Amino acid sequence: MTIRHHISDPLLMAYSSGVLPEAFNLVLAVHLSLCDECKARLGAFDTVGGVLLDSCETVAMANGSLAATLAKLTQPAPHVPPRKSNKILPAPLMDYVGGGLAAVKWRSLGMGVRQAILPTDKAATARLLYIPAGQEVPDHGHRGTELTLVLQGAFHDKVARFGRGDLEIANEDLNHQPIAEAGEDCICLAATDAPLRFNALLPRLAQPFFRI
Ligand code: ZN
Ligand code: ZN
Repeated sequence: MTIRHHISDPLLMAYSSGVLPEAFNLVLAVHLSLCDECKARLGAFDTVGGVLLDSCETVAMANGSLAATLAKLTQPAPHVPPRKSNKILPAPLMDYVGGGLAAVKWRSLGMGVRQAILPTDKAATARLLYIPAGQEVPDHGHRGTELTLVLQGAFHDKVARFGRGDLEIANEDLNHQPIAEAGEDCICLAATDAPLRFNALLPRLAQPFFRI
């Protein structure tokens, strides 16, 4: 697997400082679990963040806060079984799906395309998308940021071809029509922080029902 499309510097910096909505964090965590290159870049950002924290002025803590923190540390940690990844779903996704691909609760969007919205906070929406080989997704623009990560198969649009592990970052400037590559059904993880802007009437009418 060769990953060609990576996390941009501004996004990686935002991830490192913990300011992104949960849905975006999930997509980026999945990319990071597959991509050593971005993992190394994240390490550099984390170091910069640490240095910045060290150089900040100190603030007096409330009485007893050290004791309270230490008490928490000595409590036994709840038993959490280690997360396992499978061939399609990397470990960060398994918790959200509640198992492997068989556990995904798909809903049809028509034309064989299916989605499953994952439980995240409401600041952005994360969904798994299943696009049959050769099928196109309706032509659309974006009102905010859309992150799309390929888990199986591949798709292409006017920007590039995206295969497993690749991340497409779309914003207001991009209008595109992703098409799944022939030969293998495409499964993606996508996150959006605003509704898409569909150019055709039919998907526009269906939009509120599917939270796209
Ligand atoms: Zn990467
Ligand atoms: Zn899009």
